[in-house]
Amino acid sequence: MQATLLTIGDELLIGQVLDTNAHWISSYLYEQGIELASTMTVSDSKLEIGAALTHAAKTSRVILLTGGLGPTKDDLTLEAIAEHLELPLVFNEETFARIEHIFKELIKRPLSPLHKRQAYQPQGAQTLLNKQGTAPGIWIEKHGVIYIAMPGVPREMKYLITEEVVPRLLPLASSKTRKELTIHTAGWGETQIATAIQAVEDKLPSHISLAYLPSLGTVRVRINAEGDNGEALLKELEAWKVKIVKLLPKELIYGYGNTSMVEVVQQLLLKKKMTLVTAESCTGGMIAHSITERPGASKVFYGSVIAYDNSVKKKLLGVPDHIFKQHGAVSEQAVRAMVKGILPLLGADVAIATSGIAGPSGGTPEKPVGTIWVAIGTRNQIITRKLSFRHDRATNIARTSTTALDMLRRFLLIA
Ligand code: ATP
Ligand code: MG
Repeated sequence: MQATLLTIGDELLIGQVLDTNAHWISSYLYEQGIELASTMTVSDSKLEIGAALTHAAKTSRVILLTGGLGPTKDDLTLEAIAEHLELPLVFNEETFARIEHIFKELIKRPLSPLHKRQAYQPQGAQTLLNKQGTAPGIWIEKHGVIYIAMPGVPREMKYLITEEVVPRLLPLASSKTRKELTIHTAGWGETQIATAIQAVEDKLPSHISLAYLPSLGTVRVRINAEGDNGEALLKELEAWKVKIVKLLPKELIYGYGNTSMVEVVQQLLLKKKMTLVTAESCTGGMIAHSITERPGASKVFYGSVIAYDNSVKKKLLGVPDHIFKQHGAVSEQAVRAMVKGILPLLGADVAIATSGIAGPSGGTPEKPVGTIWVAIGTRNQIITRKLSFRHDRATNIARTSTTALDMLRRFLLIA
């Protein structure tokens, strides 16, 4: 079933509001087996909404719209749908009674004449009861195309999609079952992975597809299958997974399914009966945060020192002066010394230390922005790595955190 989403609002087009509706709707519908063929962001203009509807109606069986259902004059979605379908807008008594009731009983404010506008609907439309707000959703079918209009407010939109829209769409969607399987990797880029597994990818039958989802140093490889029998599909996916995994280095893969890097690291620490601490300069506690965010952290994580200023590296972690003078705070020697300092200070088995130039300023020709040193170590063994990123500050920090966790994971695998 071909479906298109139109998210409507000037605020989306000037970058004032992030279009989280499109993100949420596309992933929720996908989980339900309904795939969007396209999404479009459209301004609060009847002309533009009309043009988008005409375009989408050429190929789509279902057109979903969010936004522009409000009581104010800039909310034009229903007028645009009515004009597009050449239908009059008619007053819906029931909807108006509901709006009146909400204002009288719940909001306890007088109804403004503007709210009467929300009770007008294209002739023949069904009302989708919105228990989260005043503007109802609308469902109308003409010439074989279903138009579904929902409010822009994310909470109201989510309510309508889950309670009203998807239950009506599912019986119309294809009867095919869909299964998927995810391989989580860290350390290689998507092209490197694609090259390594090309021989298998070329052999995939048409009902099986493969997608690469890169993010901050990790790549998820997702295999999807569509067919009639869910169990058979899962078996098939499992067989393809084995073929793919054989072509990749063992340590590149950190997990399958719904796992996360933090979960894997926590489990490895548990298995090895080791406790972790972090000494973080440029990551400012982000590694500690990502570990403690997940339940179960207390079994494996002791704490952290955010050694941002050199004085803290010196006073708390005992990094000697000569290291700053000879090598600087962003150096292999400094992160090594940070690991050596924090282990006895906090009494843990293994430590992560970071020190780098996250940017946007502070770079030099020898150490440009994005130069970051990471050390992982126990009392007996320390490994280090120099990272050279070219991102903005936030991304450099986030990617360092993921990379450091992956270094720890690989360290623990052979520890
Ligand atoms: P209302 O009845 O509240 O006026 P509406 O259907 O007119 O609802 P809008 O006025 O377009 O919706 O948007 C209401 C709120 O929802 C605004 O704060 C807007 O920023 C937010 N919003 C609208 N569209 C989106 C979107 N695609 N993603 C995230 N937020 C959105
Ligand atoms: Mg709007």
